Amino acid sequence: MSIPPNQIVILPESGTILELLLQYMYHQPQPDLSLLDFDTLIALGEAAEKYQVYSALEICRVYLSLSIPDHPLRVLSFALKHNRTSLIDEAAKETIGEPLEGLISALQPHHFVAWVKYHRAWMDTLSKVYQFRDPLLRHWEGSKDADGPGTKLMVNPCEVWAELWGTVAHQLQGKPEMLLQIDEVFRQTRELLGLRCRACERLIVDWQAEVEWGLEKIPKLSTYL
Ligand SMILES: [Zn+2]
Repeated sequence: MSIPPNQIVILPESGTILELLLQYMYHQPQPDLSLLDFDTLIALGEAAEKYQVYSALEICRVYLSLSIPDHPLRVLSFALKHNRTSLIDEAAKETIGEPLEGLISALQPHHFVAWVKYHRAWMDTLSKVYQFRDPLLRHWEGSKDADGPGTKLMVNPCEVWAELWGTVAHQLQGKPEMLLQIDEVFRQTRELLGLRCRACERLIVDWQAEVEWGLEKIPKLSTYL
């Protein structure tokens, strides 16, 4: 579209946004985006996408990424709209625990379908966490009272495992988003265990490693799009 000279063009962006954008288009000091509130930042991001101001796009992406903990859904919606893959996958992880109503209103229907499949992958991973070992498992080795190195048979079977299993299960609350805090869940479980059983300590280490491996295997949201 060519615009005749002297014709006034009304742009939908606010003066603040256009002023910020212009600072990226000319040789002048660039604005400090850390001073912007989130609404202004995302509006600047939208304008940078619309007018393809590449110098502004990259820095907006960085600051939007930093805003994910406070605004995961809005950043995800922005990233999906503009097909920014790394931002999509960064933000998606943080929306696992978001209420469905919010997702339905923030995402396009085909993006929501992809998100549901992604969420299902997280649920499957959570389900595997609970299947690691029988919670009622009782073992006979690994007393802390063993003299010297190695494990020795205990007088009675260890009953600590059920307590540890219950602690992990309880802290996860059946919520896949709690898997994002898995380090803390296992840290507290190890603290509860203390020095009571070396065999249980090894089981906890194996369990955490298996969970972390499972988390790495979850496909990214962008692979469902
Ligand atoms: Zn034990």
